[in-house]
Amino acid sequence: MKCRYKYCTHESKDVDKEDAVKDGTSYFHKDCFKQKSVKQEIEAYYIENLPTTAIQLLRKAINILLNENPYSAEYVLFIIKKIHVNNLVINNPFGIAYYCHEGRNIKEWKKIQTNIKFKEIKNEIVQVNDDENKVKFTYKPNKKWNDLI
Ligand SMILES: [Zn+2]
Repeated sequence: MKCRYKYCTHESKDVDKEDAVKDGTSYFHKDCFKQKSVKQEIEAYYIENLPTTAIQLLRKAINILLNENPYSAEYVLFIIKKIHVNNLVINNPFGIAYYCHEGRNIKEWKKIQTNIKFKEIKNEIVQVNDDENKVKFTYKPNKKWNDLI
């Protein structure tokens, strides 16, 4: 089967049926399908929460981040949530890159990723709280974490 993702990152577009994700009549590599889905989530989140923009510009900015830098779609989603939650300045979608490049954000993301790997502490690290309609990220360091490194 051929992966139908326009931005397929695999050298070979071929994907075994048993390794593929089927969506309608299309087949995708698992990671391609995931990127495609998270990308839709990024678009929806941006449109809903950040300054009005043309969808073409938004897609272009996201594609540059994912295909040229490259950042993971999950990281870009994390960044735009951070921009919204913390009321950071953003004038247009190309501004996302500025926050993606920021060293402390990359560091924070790496830390979250490493922590997620330890299943037993997974849910204690990043919690999303609903507080008077405001979504906040809370960072909860865990003692176990220190034991593990
Ligand atoms: Zn693919």
